Amino acid sequence: MKVSKRAQEVPPSATIAVTARAQQLKAQGVDVIGFGAGAPDFDTPDYIKDAAIAALKAGKTKYTAAAGIIELRTIIAEKLRKENGLEYTPEEIIVSIGGKHSLYEAMQAVLDLGDEVILPTPYWVTYPETIKLAGAVSVIIQTDKANSYKMTTEQLRNAITDKTAMVVINSPNNPGGFTYTPEELAALAKVLQGTDVIVLSDEIYEKLIYGDTKFVSFASLSEDAYNRTLTLNGFSKAFSMTGWRLGYTAGPLEVIKAMGRLQSHMTSNPVTFGQYAAIEALGEPAAEAIEKMRVEFERRGKYMASRLNSIEDVICNEPTGAFYCFPDVSGHYGRTINGVEIGGSMDFAEALLEQANVALVPGLPFGCDNNVRLSFACSLEQITKGLDRIEKWLNQ
Ligand code: PMP
Repeated sequence: MKVSKRAQEVPPSATIAVTARAQQLKAQGVDVIGFGAGAPDFDTPDYIKDAAIAALKAGKTKYTAAAGIIELRTIIAEKLRKENGLEYTPEEIIVSIGGKHSLYEAMQAVLDLGDEVILPTPYWVTYPETIKLAGAVSVIIQTDKANSYKMTTEQLRNAITDKTAMVVINSPNNPGGFTYTPEELAALAKVLQGTDVIVLSDEIYEKLIYGDTKFVSFASLSEDAYNRTLTLNGFSKAFSMTGWRLGYTAGPLEVIKAMGRLQSHMTSNPVTFGQYAAIEALGEPAAEAIEKMRVEFERRGKYMASRLNSIEDVICNEPTGAFYCFPDVSGHYGRTINGVEIGGSMDFAEALLEQANVALVPGLPFGCDNNVRLSFACSLEQITKGLDRIEKWLNQ
């Protein structure tokens, strides 16, 4: 059967492809260490599961308002006010089926054919595809290792044209593991003043920050920033709820309404009993549940980065957010390891998986071929074993 040009142009998610290959090897009995995952390895806290069970038993099994139940949007508004210093009414918030869905819908709601979207590297693989599916064009900004892979004000200023409709900011960053400081974000916000550029601020990793890193919501920087920002967040990362598929967007009423119209035809509401559980997720026990995971991630990230840095020709910044290390391994490009020439990150990832049975994600689909991404959403024991293998593999 014919497949549309639109669908043909979308490659499968590179992160999912590596995980699939690792699973295939595992199924064949190979002892694979997986650093590919983009999901916390912790289970969803029991208090959230119990709330979903209670909602099911209470018959919360029917359609709801397409944008999500008002009780959930109200508690998200409260969360944004208390934790992020952002004032939104429940009508200015839409709950979708995961942050990915929120992102897709946001792009569809604001972008027109030929619009330009500024996308700094490294970028999460889904951004360019959702931009393309909205008929817009990604304008890639190649960031510098020396600036911790963060976009500079000069780079942003130079990328803006009269076609620029949006800039995507993802902090804490997947795959980079870095976080913009409040000052850096304020400087970027200043560059946008006097333009019509929308900021899509993906804040899904806001709770996973380390050391003395401070998180600030882009929209809270100034009135100007507030008016131009769509704030995207979700339950997957902070609450270990990846399988629940719950994300949300807050922003100007006309955009949220447009997203709501699209959602009413695309999916209708997010899963009903999940929404009731999400209300509880944001309740009292949240802080403690999140902190437990955060502390463990911090310990693992520090260890992983120090192990990577101790390998010759591997350079890794200590992560300040999310759960990824993003080392530059290009010092090994041009080598031949066990008969395989390592030309770039794709070769690196493939050879490492086949020869040393460690799965990680090549940097190329994130826009950085010099790097690879290792997730530390796995046990310290796994990290130790995997790093031993990588070290041995590179040192031969
Ligand atoms: N934004 C970023 C930067 C992510 O890494 C992810 C998950 N990989 C998401 C959004 C979306 O997550 P979900 O669809 O599970 O809410």
